[in-house]
Amino acid sequence: MPEVTASACPIDMESLVSLCKRRGFIFPSSEIYGGLNGFFDYGPLGVELKNNIKNAWWRDMVHRRDDIVGLDASVIMHPKVWEASGHLEGFSDPMVDCRESKMRYRADQLFFAPVIVAGETIGYVSVLEDGGMEERAAERAHDLKRKLGKQGEMEPLHLREYTEARPEEYALIPSPATGNPGSLTPPRDFNLMFQTYVGAVREEEAVAYLRPETAQGIFVDFKSVMDTSRVKLPFGIAQIGKAFRNEITPRNFIFRSREFEQMEMEYFIPPEEDWQVRHREWIDWCRNWLVGIGIRPELLSEYNHPTEKLAFYSRGTTDIMFAYPFGVQELWGIAARGDYDLRQHQEHAGKSMEYFDESRKSRYLPHVIEPALGVERTLLAVICSAYMQDEVDGESRNLLRFHPRVAPYKVAVFPLVKNKPALMERADAIQERLRRRWHVFFDVSGAIGRRYRRQDEIGTPFGVTVDFDTVEKDGCVTVRDRDTTRQERVSEDKLEGYLAERIGD
Ligand code: ATP
Repeated sequence: MPEVTASACPIDMESLVSLCKRRGFIFPSSEIYGGLNGFFDYGPLGVELKNNIKNAWWRDMVHRRDDIVGLDASVIMHPKVWEASGHLEGFSDPMVDCRESKMRYRADQLFFAPVIVAGETIGYVSVLEDGGMEERAAERAHDLKRKLGKQGEMEPLHLREYTEARPEEYALIPSPATGNPGSLTPPRDFNLMFQTYVGAVREEEAVAYLRPETAQGIFVDFKSVMDTSRVKLPFGIAQIGKAFRNEITPRNFIFRSREFEQMEMEYFIPPEEDWQVRHREWIDWCRNWLVGIGIRPELLSEYNHPTEKLAFYSRGTTDIMFAYPFGVQELWGIAARGDYDLRQHQEHAGKSMEYFDESRKSRYLPHVIEPALGVERTLLAVICSAYMQDEVDGESRNLLRFHPRVAPYKVAVFPLVKNKPALMERADAIQERLRRRWHVFFDVSGAIGRRYRRQDEIGTPFGVTVDFDTVEKDGCVTVRDRDTTRQERVSEDKLEGYLAERIGD
């Protein structure tokens, strides 16, 4: 298989951000006050797209299977949850500060290299991680050589993470903010959980955390779900909800947000079951699901975490990666977590988390496979996949080829002209009927071609035009397909069925 790279993405970052803003998908949060880094608002089209993604996931993950049930746990949980899960102790990223500019960076996303000319180290360069960092580092190294007037052969640069810098190197590595060395601090761990206080008194005992993942709610409620819903192993518990991480450097638009939503599912299996088989099954399921909601398969790839970099409790983790405009990055993590979480909660809460296996008449802690997906990263991948420009009647056209399941509007209804009451009435009646089932756009203004184009731009898959023939002759409407622009006459009484077949749910 050819390697997937960011250049495969059909849209660049600037166009993506501006499209999302212009068309009302995504706005910076509190924009009139200058925005708040890492927080975003979802506009009229964005909220529809987001809801449709979540609904599709819930339908397929919960409603269409008989081995998975749902849950909606609270965002703020007992602080001991985070002690047991290991988040209090270890949910941190290495951080580095620039004392001069007051800028803050993830030390594992800051790369540096000594510049060696004719065997002599003439200084250091640093770059922030992204697709083009090697080239930028090389440019900086050449600039440095020129500035210092050094002659001779430059050795190839070996970029390393700032976390791997030796203490004597900290003072030599230039700050990405100022370009000068001497202002970077050594890396230190920064816990990503947002803290708050529960109740009226701001004291140590009242400290609580906004959940950094939805998964722990599932583990904590495992026993209650098991006791109340007659589930039998293997079974899963799914949850969609907000998660919060005080990311050191939120970036790449909504990809790394501080407030985001997760769609997580914990699939519990007997301990002796071959987890690798289940793990693979879930990776395939996840990939197919993504493709099924319109994500382009050629932009997807898989990354297996090397065994030596796995968390100690993890047996294997595979990420489904997407070719975003800023690089190939994690979209969906599928981890085999053994019985780590249930065991931790069992120990910390002092309550049994064991499953009673009726067939074997024995109790044990199940193991778990966890597919964890972010709504925002899915939404970005959906928009990147849908973005397209083509030519219709010699004119270039911008369109979003959303899969009908996730499209913000499913159908647009157009009376051909607005000054004919009979036509308007008929169109109005049609939109009323369709609206009971779907999100419908009703547009009466402008030439019909322009109205089609407007819908193409926001990704509405079907346009329904009511014309004179509808009223005077055949009772049929014209249904226009967004992607092919093909038009078909469909009788009014068959319209709902025609659309339902193509939209799905
Ligand atoms: P990364 O390595 O990119 O920080 P992660 O491995 O920490 O991600 P997980 O803890 O596995 O992420 O979270 C599961 C999923 O939640 C991710 O695959 C991603 O889709 C989503 N996610 C995690 N952090 C963020 C964030 N800051 N903003 C948006 N989505 C996120």
